[in-house]
Amino acid sequence: MAEPNRTLANRILIGLVIGVLAGVLTLIIGQPFPRLLGFMQLVSTHVLDPFGQVFLRTLFFVVIPLVFASLAAGVVQLGRLDRLGPLAGRTFALFALNMAIGVGLGLLMMNLVRPGDQLAEATKLQLEQLYGGAAQGYVASSATSPTMSFALLVEMFMPRNLFAAVTGQSRAAIGDVLPLIVFALLVGAAGTQLAEDSRARLQKGLDLVCEVMTRIVHFALLLAPYAVPAMIYSVIVKIGVDILAALGVFVAGCITVLLLHLFGTLSLWIKFWTRRSPRQFFKDTRAVLITAFSTSSSNATLPASLECARNTLKVQPGVAGFVLPLGATMNMSGTALYEGCVVLFVAQVFGVDLTLAQEVTLLLLAVISAVAIAGVPGGSLPVIAGLLATFGIPPEGIGIVLGVDRILDMMRTVVNVGADLVTAVVVDARTVNGQAPQTPA
Ligand code: ASP
Repeated sequence: MAEPNRTLANRILIGLVIGVLAGVLTLIIGQPFPRLLGFMQLVSTHVLDPFGQVFLRTLFFVVIPLVFASLAAGVVQLGRLDRLGPLAGRTFALFALNMAIGVGLGLLMMNLVRPGDQLAEATKLQLEQLYGGAAQGYVASSATSPTMSFALLVEMFMPRNLFAAVTGQSRAAIGDVLPLIVFALLVGAAGTQLAEDSRARLQKGLDLVCEVMTRIVHFALLLAPYAVPAMIYSVIVKIGVDILAALGVFVAGCITVLLLHLFGTLSLWIKFWTRRSPRQFFKDTRAVLITAFSTSSSNATLPASLECARNTLKVQPGVAGFVLPLGATMNMSGTALYEGCVVLFVAQVFGVDLTLAQEVTLLLLAVISAVAIAGVPGGSLPVIAGLLATFGIPPEGIGIVLGVDRILDMMRTVVNVGADLVTAVVVDARTVNGQAPQTPA
């Protein structure tokens, strides 16, 4: 990593630690002085949250042009369309493997620890009462979502109006990225068919857009050492300590398995499928992972991931431009893992026993549904409510975990983004100038 970037990453890390410490301290002091805690919560809502949004929105601003330009440039750079197949094949195979392992680990953990059996009936009722209203909203939006079908897939990937979808008139808060990805692939594919000089000009133009957007990402990252502590502080002072304690076993189980997947499974991938050291990899990517943690959004983190992959990890631009935008939208192992954990946990709380066959179905459904989840804070909640209903578990049961969802959203987003970067370096190690090397990397 270049020296200024290294200093910035350290400053963001220090900011994160300061934010966490200040938040915990406020919570401790707030126990004997609840009015002070109330005041700090107000300050968080009215000052720190909007300040955090300035950082977040600057990143959101560049997502659409950056996804388009980097993906199209990635395909144009391949030079020949037949090179796209192997690159896409490797990428999608790794996405599927990553998510399947993630859910498998999550289900294993929830079966071993069975946190749902340990939740007292009174706590369950209290949580349902507290979060019942919010839960209804997710249940309603899951009930109105159409069931998966070929027609729906076409609608998701190729809506009638690309611009309406991209400007956020449909599912996701910042617009749908899936149709944009399809359009960028088409532009890239068409670009490879142009005469050599036109292709070079197109490539240059797209690279230029990427460069300008990356400059804006740098502006945003300059804010990060201040915005990250502000956002973390705000999340911590608003955490209900009692709720966190009541759901402690579930939260600890989820966090353990998320970390196990990130630093265990994915470290093995780096070690055996690339020539890199997992330790160095996580050191190089720490600013991006902290951005994922503090924004809880894969989409908002995408510009920082692209920048880090190209400039710090030195991934071939074509590979980074292809894998990362797709990954931010489709490769959600942290989310898939969490979906499995919540469904099993709520099933245990309601005394519903899932058979082995049902758990295997849950694994498959968690992987498939994670692909369509928007990379925004809380994007998975309506889908989880739908999954609960599929297995005959009251979907309102999602209310039981809502009080701790934000903190787990931060953690699962780190895994989602970390896995995208790992996939990029693995695909990169197996790709030379857009082609598979003759000998295994
Ligand atoms: N916040 C997650 C992401 O952006 C999605 C989710 O699990 O809710 O990756």
